Amino acid sequence: MIQKPKGTYDVFGDYGKQIKYLENLLNTLMDTYHYEYVRTPIFESSSLFHRGVGETTDIVSKETYDFKDRGDRDMTLRPEGTAGVVRSFIENKMYARADMPVKTWYYGPMFRYERPQAGRFREFYQFGVEVFGTPSPMMDAEVISIPVTLFRLLGLKGIQVKINSLGDQESRELYRTALLKHFQPYLSELCSDCKERYSKNPLRILDCKKDKDLQCMKDAPKLSDYLSESSKKHFEQLKQYLEALGIDYVVDEHLVRGLDYYTETVFEVEADIQGFGSNNVLCAGGRYNHLVEHLDGPQTPGVGFALGYERILSALEKEEITLGEENKVDVYVIPMSEEFNGKTFALTQTLRMNGFITETDYLGRNLKGNFKQADRLLASFLILVGEDEEKEHIYTIKNNQTKEEYQVDQDYIVMFLDEKLQELESSCDDHCQCGHHECHCKEGGCHHHE
Ligand code: ATP
Ligand code: MG
Repeated sequence: MIQKPKGTYDVFGDYGKQIKYLENLLNTLMDTYHYEYVRTPIFESSSLFHRGVGETTDIVSKETYDFKDRGDRDMTLRPEGTAGVVRSFIENKMYARADMPVKTWYYGPMFRYERPQAGRFREFYQFGVEVFGTPSPMMDAEVISIPVTLFRLLGLKGIQVKINSLGDQESRELYRTALLKHFQPYLSELCSDCKERYSKNPLRILDCKKDKDLQCMKDAPKLSDYLSESSKKHFEQLKQYLEALGIDYVVDEHLVRGLDYYTETVFEVEADIQGFGSNNVLCAGGRYNHLVEHLDGPQTPGVGFALGYERILSALEKEEITLGEENKVDVYVIPMSEEFNGKTFALTQTLRMNGFITETDYLGRNLKGNFKQADRLLASFLILVGEDEEKEHIYTIKNNQTKEEYQVDQDYIVMFLDEKLQELESSCDDHCQCGHHECHCKEGGCHHHE
């Protein structure tokens, strides 16, 4: 039997429901924030990621899926979303639009050749936003507020927002020099990756997971001491905007993030949940004021983040939150015998066209078998199709819970079901923000069918 590639997974059953719920929520959320949906190719020229993400990042130096296409071009399966969106922003001349800022969002699969483990896959899904055309810290705060709001709507409680400032290019240059000076005597203690980072991008030494407990890491100079006046002001304003939105955060001076082109704000949202393990960064992002020009576009500031589906879903699992409704069938249509299959099939179609979730029998079950199947599918109503129905145009509709039966004229079936299903719906008193009926609201979180 052929099996799925290592580090990938299939979506089906309950997991499928959860993903669908999450994506519906993302769609509504991004509509309210007034972001536009963008989609870019899953593979791009390899050079885009080399330049856009940076040669010294783990993502590019160790984790890409590279291949040559049949025309001998170097291609890479996208390991992240920002580079592609920036390329698209430039190539489609979005920078010339009058309605700045351009606020975009995307979701889709990303590919990284990593060692598979909990919360780490080779194909995984990200949701992200990229905003172009404003240097305002207000936009940094808006961008940070998106995952925070998402987690609130999902009911996730154990989360922590970490922010830091990398400063502008001038601040980074000063800091770079200080870091080189600081780490020089300790070079032999550092891991081989950090030795390379030392010459290419010393800032990223601070991001190292292997060396993070070394004394020389702890004593490293602080970026905050090297920030220019304007960077300090940007960071202070960001904090004020976050406070205005009621978002709790901590400043983490060691937060530098993988991308080479981050400037000013960087942030992460972590799961602060017992037993979550080390892959607890749910979401990461920052400002990149020079990436657009670096990829040959006009100077345009940008800010964005990306968030992994799999880690959110496992955080939800840890907090015992299940997303998604049970997929209840409104109406199950049953033929009394085989000769009524055609009529049954046609009625099923009519009901579907009128918006009812409708199911019927495809296996030639007997009446008893069909009643059982209707129960399995949690059908609210049953409709029986037999001789009387065909002749008299009067149908028997049965409430599958109360077992009450109604005789309904063919012309009134739609109206009847509409009314009855609405009654069922309103008998559930709590409605929640996610727009789902029959669920209970608990401090903003949706806990369906507890
Ligand atoms: P990490 O430090 O965990 O390797 P990263 O810095 O590589 O993360 P980013 O490139 O910033 O992560 O990606 C943003 C988010 O995408 C992460 O916070 C995480 O939720 C998710 N993510 C990254 N890599 C993977 C992966 N291999 N499998 C599943 N999710 C991932
Ligand atoms: Mg990584």
